[in-house]
Amino acid sequence: MSKYDYSIFWEESIKQLREENEISDQEFNMYFQNIHYVESSKDTIVISLPSRFIQSQIKQRYSNLIENRFMELSGLNLLLDYIIENSKLKETENVSKQEESTPLAVKELIKPHSQLRSDYSFETFVVGNNNSFAANASKAIAENPGSKYNPCLIYGGVGLGKTHLMQSIGNYIHYNDPKMKVVYIPAETFINDFIESINTKKQTSFKNKYRNVDVLLIDDIHDLQDKKGTQEELFHTFNALYDANKQMVFTCDRPPSELKNFADRLKNRFVRGLNVDLHPPNYETRYAILRKKLEDKNVIISNDILELIAQNIKTNIRDLEAALTSIVAYAELVQKEITPEIAKQQLKQFFSSPIQANITIDKIQKLVSEYFNVTLTDMKGKKRTKQITFPRQIAMFIIREITDYSTTEIGLEFGGRDHTTVMHSCQRIEDRMKTDSTIEPTVQELIRSVKET
Ligand code: ADP
Ligand code: MG
Repeated sequence: MSKYDYSIFWEESIKQLREENEISDQEFNMYFQNIHYVESSKDTIVISLPSRFIQSQIKQRYSNLIENRFMELSGLNLLLDYIIENSKLKETENVSKQEESTPLAVKELIKPHSQLRSDYSFETFVVGNNNSFAANASKAIAENPGSKYNPCLIYGGVGLGKTHLMQSIGNYIHYNDPKMKVVYIPAETFINDFIESINTKKQTSFKNKYRNVDVLLIDDIHDLQDKKGTQEELFHTFNALYDANKQMVFTCDRPPSELKNFADRLKNRFVRGLNVDLHPPNYETRYAILRKKLEDKNVIISNDILELIAQNIKTNIRDLEAALTSIVAYAELVQKEITPEIAKQQLKQFFSSPIQANITIDKIQKLVSEYFNVTLTDMKGKKRTKQITFPRQIAMFIIREITDYSTTEIGLEFGGRDHTTVMHSCQRIEDRMKTDSTIEPTVQELIRSVKET
């Protein structure tokens, strides 16, 4: 097998281009259906196509689009290469391909890893539209630590599964090869250990502890902001492990570019590898997660109630789980099946938003769209004409200014946009305020009328 495997970039690029309708369903059916990823080299991704005709179409119409997306996703200049498929050959190849992993019986003899939660595994991680890229990358890393995507940075808001995924990588490697030295540590513990090692003059043993590992997993590196000394130490640890081809995975609650008081050279090291982000799950994924979480619980909760929870809790998976746990606890207590009415009553605290009750996203959207005379549907929709994007950005900016909603929550209320889009929009308005003196008064006027009504 080649050292490179960029299949996840191929898959994710096609998925994204379809979602953005750069490749329509019709086009997909016409050209892409029988195209498959074959292999990668240092700078190419080889795909197989069913005919020369398809090859020429892909080259002319789509190769630039796809290669640009490779660049965005991987930071690498990957080009497409093509082979025309010989269908018979491929079938026999597939049959002979065997799964290689440690047999189950052997796995049971392996002691659980002391720093990892054994329920944080790929088996219990539900893959949905919000996390498939991150999940695929994590699996690829777990199968071949140190070789492909090193380092890997998983980032995203609170409760979206960063720790679960990171520990899944650790568990997978541990069970597959218990000789591998896997170290998992929350950044906060890393900081405390480091300070302690200075105070007790045991710096050498600290260094040895982290520089002689095969896999280093550091959770929540945003906690290292402002911690100059620890950043410096991590920088050297990083270099030692990187040079030795040891796998490193980090998680962070924001993109690395947004880390504050963080040494540039360390930030650059994170960016050098693969960066994947986690998004809030859509309805289907939320529902699937609830079902999965219910599997190992000994109570019956009807589908209506799962639907109710999935519909009402959109923020993140931690909140989703908390709501489910509360219902399960209640069901166990009263020993009878819960009706949707009881569930609604029980879940009240989870459903109501803690934000100032009278200033809602909806209210601001309505006011701003009236002011600019655009429809609410357009405000939340996909159109990107100037007449619509400006009011939309203004609305997002105002929501950010005067409410406590997170960019994730705001994005959801604008047709399911990503939190980064919300951040960019707010930034755009801030930038324009610097050069256009009419914007600030407009914003102020709108804020006043939001507060008055
Ligand atoms: P983060 O580290 O991003 O704050 P966690 O990894 O702690 O989030 O996830 C919060 C909770 O949600 C955990 O209990 C985790 O098991 C669960 N969870 C997150 N994503 C998924 C998923 N895709 N499938 C199943 N459970 C998930
Ligand atoms: Mg976490």
